[in-house]
Amino acid sequence: MKVSAAGVSVSIDGTPILDGVTLTAAAGSVTGLIGPNGSGKSTLLRCLYRIIRPQQGAVLIGEHDVWQVPARRAGLLRAVVAQDQELDNDYTVRDIVAMGRIPHQRLLERESATDRAVVDEALARVGIEWAQTRRFATLSGGERQRVLLARALAQGAPVLLLDEPTNHLDIGAQLELLDLIRDLGLTTIAALHDLDHAIAYCDAVVLLQHGRVVAAGEPAAVLTPQHLADVFGVRAAVTTHPLTGRPHLVFAAAAAVLLAEEHAS
Ligand code: ADP
Ligand code: MG
Repeated sequence: MKVSAAGVSVSIDGTPILDGVTLTAAAGSVTGLIGPNGSGKSTLLRCLYRIIRPQQGAVLIGEHDVWQVPARRAGLLRAVVAQDQELDNDYTVRDIVAMGRIPHQRLLERESATDRAVVDEALARVGIEWAQTRRFATLSGGERQRVLLARALAQGAPVLLLDEPTNHLDIGAQLELLDLIRDLGLTTIAALHDLDHAIAYCDAVVLLQHGRVVAAGEPAAVLTPQHLADVFGVRAAVTTHPLTGRPHLVFAAAAAVLLAEEHAS
């Protein structure tokens, strides 16, 4: 299902945070939200998943305006893995994944056989079924992220919204999680910090600065040395990744490049 935002603006206490953000994510594609700290990535995701109501503009999932449909219906449209989620220490892994079924259940309804089967499948999909009776609090960072992804999968929504899903993970766990996300085939919008991950895993990226879209489109067309200098204040060069043959970015602080140029001349 396609996701689109049109002219989304948000101010908090009179400070503009998002200013007329427009984007489209094609059905089944992976879109990266890129931008410096404070550029508005998390706020934009919160607008998409119905936590912050934009003062202007609209967010559509398929044909549905996420701010017009009932909350339960929104739960069937999109699933979320937010950042640093606080969860009660006593929940087991299975309890947490089972929470993904809530939008499918009536109030106080018991888990159905279908719910149980979907939870089993979600646990298996992310490879965490062995830990289902463990308390969530006892898991490593990478395991927790997989559990939260399993909860999102159990929700069965066609759209997945992720806020820095690889944060705090070691490099192996990062690549494993991104591979898994890519293979799901869902319409995915993810705030990402690592620009090489954006190139390797995203069909499109949206580059944000000060709550505005600077550029959007194919990763290699957006993550150009000029854009990276303008938005991140770094010198960047595009090389070829020695292992994958894909475009690969290397960076230097602007000052370091000046120094090297002085030495060379
Ligand atoms: P990012 O995820 O790109 O780092 P955020 O969306 O978290 O950026 O934040 C964008 C800007 O909005 C930042 O300047 C942040 O301080 C501000 N901001 C976000 N949420 C709030 C809030 N609840 N109250 C005040 N300012 C906020
Ligand atoms: Mg953020």
